[in-house]
Amino acid sequence: MRIFEPHIHMFSRVTDDYEAMALAGVRALLEPAFWLGQPRRHAGTFFDYFDSLLDFEVRRAAEFGIEHFCALSLNPKEANDERLAAEVLARLPEYLRHERVLAVGEVGFDSISPAEEKALRAQVEIAASMKLPLLVHTPHRDKRRGTVRTLEIVKEMRFPPERVLVDHNTEETTPLARAAGCWAGHTVYPRTKLSAERFVNILDENGLEGMLVNSSADWGVSDALNAAKSAREMLRRGYGEDQVDKVVWENPVAFYSQSGRLRLKAAGSEVRREPGADQKKISVAARLEAS
Ligand SMILES: [Zn+2]
Repeated sequence: MRIFEPHIHMFSRVTDDYEAMALAGVRALLEPAFWLGQPRRHAGTFFDYFDSLLDFEVRRAAEFGIEHFCALSLNPKEANDERLAAEVLARLPEYLRHERVLAVGEVGFDSISPAEEKALRAQVEIAASMKLPLLVHTPHRDKRRGTVRTLEIVKEMRFPPERVLVDHNTEETTPLARAAGCWAGHTVYPRTKLSAERFVNILDENGLEGMLVNSSADWGVSDALNAAKSAREMLRRGYGEDQVDKVVWENPVAFYSQSGRLRLKAAGSEVRREPGADQKKISVAARLEAS
């Protein structure tokens, strides 16, 4: 099994997690910038954090044969400190130019405040001008309202929906994201929120097209193997290996390939063409890059 983990915060994990992920089949991952727990007071600490995601984590992952990519943003929660938000947004584009950045994210709503909407709109504009995909966080409280509002903003701003990955969906919001033409991410947690069983129920209802699963794995109770465990649950429920591959590899690779920057070194990483698709192949294999 090969896995592209599309949303995980390795900054908060130990090397044992990298080793276990590598053994479970994780070959590449995307780490979005997020809230670090303690509210930051200085814009400089954001930029040091961005540098960690662009340098130190890349090397830490490489030790276990995992390719590390990232998404950068001002996260929804800290958008509420407007002075800090303005300073971070002013310099964000220069970090987004880095070749390992595959999206702007995670952006979106936390408490659904006017300041959060302002930061979201600013970052949708940045993503549009830099032709980068957008990774959207949906709030844990009032999820439906936050998701609907995000989808309205994306539509109103004419950002292409196929370049949007709406994340942390549940049974209630997955159909909304898909109906809007966006990709739908699902975060599986050990105790709270979505379980692997519920995620596979969502696949039963909505099909595999545009569907992704991730572990998120942050500072809270979480499990860096939840994408792999969700794949195992798919097999247990009778899905074929090709179908599992579509959800844990092809879909995330296809989404992040829209950045034009995804170059996977791993042998056998080539994206298989879907039946009926044209000859346009996302050639990610063997495009060796001297990075
Ligand atoms: Zn996250």
